[in-house]
Amino acid sequence: MGSDHSLESGQRYFPFDDANFRWHGIQPREYKDKESDSFNWRGVTRHTLLKQSNGPAAFEVRYFEVAPQGYSSLEKHEHIHAVLILRGKGRVLLGDSVYPAKAMDFFYIPSETAHQFINDGTEPFGFLCIVNLQRDRPRPLSPNELAAVQSLLASSQDSLAE
Ligand code: MN
Repeated sequence: MGSDHSLESGQRYFPFDDANFRWHGIQPREYKDKESDSFNWRGVTRHTLLKQSNGPAAFEVRYFEVAPQGYSSLEKHEHIHAVLILRGKGRVLLGDSVYPAKAMDFFYIPSETAHQFINDGTEPFGFLCIVNLQRDRPRPLSPNELAAVQSLLASSQDSLAE
């Protein structure tokens, strides 16, 4: 599949392109690999800002963007996420809570906590996500967990609606 970005080429400066909300030298990719097709998601792109597998870094820096009416996969895993919202508005499902999210809000996604990023709006919803380089694979929720989350999401859509 090749490199996600230009780090191997020695590029160190990735200026931001305001008009297109992306970084010069960073090629947007599909959100998930083909083997992750069991996950349900819609309208998400991945911009890998830092993934230095051969370098000393123990973390990765990614920007994800959720298109209007899109959502990331509903998942949980042992590794944590540090998430900084950079663009637009959305909802973040986190465990048994749903939070409104806007630019510069910060989220800590703990271990083994179900999470999903949802864009009900008309503008792109984007966030920076920092993870360990070495990490476990995301897992889908059990049918029981899924049922609980779905009722939570349905009620939050009403209460967070403007
Ligand atoms: Mn995750």
